[in-house]
Amino acid sequence: MSTKRIAILGSTGSIGVNTLDVIRLHPERFKVVALTGATQIDRLADQCAEFNPLIAVVSDEMGALRLRKLLVEKNLATQVLSGPQALVTAITDSDCDIVMAAIVGAAGLVPALAAAQAGKRVLLANKEALVMSGDLFMQAIRSGGGELLPIDSEHNAIFQCLPEHFFKTPKTHYGVEELWLTASGGPFRDMPIVDLVKITPEQACAHPNWVMGRKISVDSATMMNKGLEVIEAFWLFGLPLEKIKVFIHPQSVVHSMVRYLDGSVLAQMGQPDMRTPIAYGLAWPDRITAGVPALSLSQMAHLSFSEPDLNQFPCLALAFSAAKAGGTAPAILNAANEVAVAAFLDDGLPYLQIPIIVEKTLSSIQSFTASSLEVILEADTKAREVARNCIRQNLL
Ligand code: NDP
Ligand code: MG
Repeated sequence: MSTKRIAILGSTGSIGVNTLDVIRLHPERFKVVALTGATQIDRLADQCAEFNPLIAVVSDEMGALRLRKLLVEKNLATQVLSGPQALVTAITDSDCDIVMAAIVGAAGLVPALAAAQAGKRVLLANKEALVMSGDLFMQAIRSGGGELLPIDSEHNAIFQCLPEHFFKTPKTHYGVEELWLTASGGPFRDMPIVDLVKITPEQACAHPNWVMGRKISVDSATMMNKGLEVIEAFWLFGLPLEKIKVFIHPQSVVHSMVRYLDGSVLAQMGQPDMRTPIAYGLAWPDRITAGVPALSLSQMAHLSFSEPDLNQFPCLALAFSAAKAGGTAPAILNAANEVAVAAFLDDGLPYLQIPIIVEKTLSSIQSFTASSLEVILEADTKAREVARNCIRQNLL
């Protein structure tokens, strides 16, 4: 067994830390060659001290100066770079085999795409990258000759429930009728809409089952996360949108399912712990330990499934319509959502304004064919501008 060289984009975040937890269990299998963060310099310095990568990247030169100083004190020779282009350098110059794409939001698109173009095994957590550029991204994976393994727990579950040859001849669906994505419904699943008016960032980030970064926690509360995941599934698995269904499953034990035409439904179950899909992606097609306790069926009260109420979750409805519209509409949806969620987390935008900002942005920008990275990034920039203006008017 040869040692695999790993670059982790977003190593200081929730997925990044979980990835290092799994790697720590398997020093003979994996060597960390690049780590990247944005603002958490001390955490990145500690990670460098433990894993000794060739390259570390942070957002700006101020952060890089601090990191270099900390690494000199620790006697480390890691090369420290800064800025968006350095995220690409971390992939191209580290001679890595595997890239964990775990930056949050649109900021992760360009380096994830670079990993795809360079023919790496891409472990994709950064769903926003695929939502924005699905067609280009899948083309880049094909032309780069690498592999794309989904880390998002639902997509990882579906990947596990599909036959391996499914991906080799994408036109034939091997009896696959539908993909069923499960969703916990987040912390406000059963809350009357009137009570959502005063929701605080702390309440929105307190997910009942999963511990995650702040942005995805808010997305889970609004269910925009599931909307993004429907678009992600559309690109990953190549099934028509109407064959991708969402079910609320509050226990988060069944991570997703595939329904076949002979009546079989295959489900993947497990603890709500991201180390399982991460370990699966890292070692595929092997299985390795992930530090995750075994699932105890006898301790489970019951498992329930229901269809989501689109009035309770308008963000899910908006994502469905952007998915249907196609082109740059999903990139516009994603950008508006990122801006609205950041304003909710940091600037006092009321929780119930999130779908309103997204809807206004979507309806005031024309969608084009997502034919190039430039077109997609232009749509992203424009949508951010429009969403910020809407928020400014809202907060006045
Ligand atoms: P976190 O917020 O915990 O971490 C985000 C990471 O991205 C951090 O390392 C952060 O650096 C870095 N980062 C943030 N902004 C930038 C930027 N502009 N340029 C470069 N790096 C940046 O997020 P999560 O780990 O929760 O999520 C990461 C991705 O994985 C998201 O796309 C999310 O949707 C997806 N995902 C997450 C799951 C989870 O359980 N957490 C489950 C399924 C998918 P720093 O912290 O140093 O500022
Ligand atoms: Mg998910």
